[in-house]
Amino acid sequence: MDSCIFCKIVAGEISSAKVFEDDTVVAFRDVNPAAPTHVLVIPKKHVGRVTGLNADAASLLGHLLLVGAKVAAAEGIDTSGYRMLLNQGPDAGQLVDHLHLHVLGGHRLKGLG
Ligand code: 5GP
Ligand code: ZN
Repeated sequence: MDSCIFCKIVAGEISSAKVFEDDTVVAFRDVNPAAPTHVLVIPKKHVGRVTGLNADAASLLGHLLLVGAKVAAAEGIDTSGYRMLLNQGPDAGQLVDHLHLHVLGGHRLKGLG
């Protein structure tokens, strides 16, 4: 999608600190980290909110989680713990309408709420 900043990151039009890439996803450091480790895992293809996806998206969604776990291990936070989350819509504070999994860790995370 032309106006999407994450599509621009995938295309290399906006630079990012990439930590992992394969055929379907790319993982890069959040520009405004909320924790010592804060990585975003995104599909290379533009995908919007989880709401509205169908069963065809199941393998992609599973792959995002597995890559998130791989990134956490590479960052050395798999034993200390980490949080993976998907913000969906305004009440969750979603800023970018390109599906992205947050991987957060490296210190004790606050509770949800
Ligand atoms: P959301 O609130 O939509 O779940 O999260 C979007 C995240 O993308 C935010 O944490 C924000 O800091 C991050 N972000 C927004 N623009 C950029 C960018 O151009 N580069 C990087 N690396 N992260 C970005
Ligand atoms: Zn996009």
